[in-house]
Amino acid sequence: MAGAHWYPAYVGLGSNLQGPARQLENSFELLDAIPDTRLILRSSLYRSAPFGGIEQPDFVNAVAALLTRLSAMELLAELQGIERARGRAQGGVRWGPRVLDLDLLVYSSQEIDDPRLSVPHPGIAERNFVLLPLAEVAPDLTVPGLGRVASIAVNFSEPGISLIA
Ligand code: ADP
Ligand code: MG
Repeated sequence: MAGAHWYPAYVGLGSNLQGPARQLENSFELLDAIPDTRLILRSSLYRSAPFGGIEQPDFVNAVAALLTRLSAMELLAELQGIERARGRAQGGVRWGPRVLDLDLLVYSSQEIDDPRLSVPHPGIAERNFVLLPLAEVAPDLTVPGLGRVASIAVNFSEPGISLIA
């Protein structure tokens, strides 16, 4: 059930199958359609080389800024519902190819350490395909435990990532 207050939340989007750019465009609309949630800003789309040593197509990544009255756990359930609706198979290879990956990167100033949900998402600081689009929509955001997004993002001098749209 939705609470009275609206909280900012940042979602990382990734796809490398079945028309990745189109998957992400469609996902922005699905994020805006989540109950008690509004899409406030969307980053550009970025192309990035896959990570984790598996031979697979390049990824397209982006970040969405939301305002939501859902809790972090309720929002995660909605994100997983969208992943399933887009045909993402459950239990695929970690870091393997996927039609759609939606990660809850940051939820308000909360720090959550639950087996189902780690917030801030633990990969933020190492993943340029998350940090660069996040820096585009929220350079002044302070990620709990990490610091200001623009300050962390400057660490990427050889990003291996390019702006596509
Ligand atoms: P990754 O996104 O790291 O490539 P997956 O999407 O396959 O990995 O991981 C899905 C699992 O991660 C889910 O079971 C979900 O409960 C868990 N999870 C933990 N923290 C988060 C988060 N912040 N956002 C999304 N999923 C998360
Ligand atoms: Mg994920």
